[in-house]
Amino acid sequence: MKYEPVIGLEIHAQLRTRTKIFCGCSTAFGAAPNTQVCPVCLGLPGALPVLNRQAVDYAIKAALALGCQVQQESVFARKNYFYPDLPKGYQISQYERPLALHGGLDITAGGAKRISLTRVHMEEDAGKSLHEGFPDSDRRTYVDFNRSGVPLIEIVTEPDMRSAAEAAEFFSCLRDILVWLGVNDGNMEEGSLRCDANVSVRPAGQREFGTKAEVKNVNSFRYVQKALEYEIDRQIDILEGGGRVVQETRLWDSAAGRTFSMRGKEEAHDYRYFPEPDLPPLIVDAARVETVRLTMTELPEARRRRFVAAYGLPEYDAGVLTQSSALADYFEQVAAAAGNSKAASNWVMGELLRTLNDRGKTIDDVPLTPRALAGLIALIDKGAISSSIAKDVFAKMYDSGRTAEDIVAEEGLAQIGDESALLSIVRDVIGRHADAVAQYRAGKAATFGFLVGQVMKGSGGKGNPKLVNQLLTRELDRSS
Ligand SMILES: [Zn+2]
Repeated sequence: MKYEPVIGLEIHAQLRTRTKIFCGCSTAFGAAPNTQVCPVCLGLPGALPVLNRQAVDYAIKAALALGCQVQQESVFARKNYFYPDLPKGYQISQYERPLALHGGLDITAGGAKRISLTRVHMEEDAGKSLHEGFPDSDRRTYVDFNRSGVPLIEIVTEPDMRSAAEAAEFFSCLRDILVWLGVNDGNMEEGSLRCDANVSVRPAGQREFGTKAEVKNVNSFRYVQKALEYEIDRQIDILEGGGRVVQETRLWDSAAGRTFSMRGKEEAHDYRYFPEPDLPPLIVDAARVETVRLTMTELPEARRRRFVAAYGLPEYDAGVLTQSSALADYFEQVAAAAGNSKAASNWVMGELLRTLNDRGKTIDDVPLTPRALAGLIALIDKGAISSSIAKDVFAKMYDSGRTAEDIVAEEGLAQIGDESALLSIVRDVIGRHADAVAQYRAGKAATFGFLVGQVMKGSGGKGNPKLVNQLLTRELDRSS
């Protein structure tokens, strides 16, 4: 490679508070335009902001999980610019003194590597200009202020990434952590998580960075990778042709598969930052940081490693089960109650996730308690029901909320472990399938499976498989 890309990311993550950062308006997504607004988030004269305590705690939590140093004193600042979706004419953000500094995140694309963070700061979101969807959209733009004042954190990395794949992986790992912590819902389509990338290229071996372009609002991992690949190639082509890369802000057009110029890139001084006079400095003492730290669950990576070590689960299972803390908690409770972690993993990853998925539900909606699922596993482990019957029992438990034991008892689903009952079925099958029996005796072993299937069918799926095998072998051998 003649050129080396240099990439830094700025990620905006919406904090999952119920209300906005400086007022009591709802942050719920999807309400009719301008129904979640008040004088504060509309920027009306005389309205004063009051900082949302929960938003600060979420921001601290994210900062801690990313290994940042939370600052004892940080300062909100006005970032001044004029835009129709910004009713005050400035955005309340943090500038010279952000909430948290440093930190980093490990990625593995192309070898283990740590991506350092510069800072994590808090700010409010702007409203949203609506350019389409109205009968007069060809002549007018409407604006919806429901999003105005929604709390965000901005996470800024050092220019540590050297490929589009590294940037995409970083973004994906970061999303997993924020979702895991419960501070962000990870919903990129609704704009709860947005990524801007600063990209430049330089001749391999050169120390100084090339001129960077900013690619804005790339809203999926795949697009991060594609947008960056496109932008890297574009800049290399310019340099190869003897041209100069222009410092500017570019937008990714996913339909066209290219970036295009939006505007010249602003410098920080263009925003005339100054400390927000309506808010005191934000003081976060050590006790508060500790209080937040105590609410934090084990991070996904650590939990994944523990699942492999402590439960003896395959890497794959551990990865699936640690996709969310709720799912991981659920699994651990099932495993503890059932005393069988591999079976717990199989049932949670199998029937449970499949059923939730089929019904468009998540683990948060699961109607089955971990203890109830453990009860089902215990019945299988005791040999009381077969695993195929267990799947039916599972479906009934899921829908009715009854326990596995009740369902098995009431519906007579218990496995037939009684030799005389099974023996008559075995003899009946042997009598009715003379051809298959003859083939088996002639050495065609595969026929045995067919005969087992017939016996299981004859028992309504309730025959104890081990006993069925034994009896069938015995009977076939005896009468040959
Ligand atoms: Zn409001």
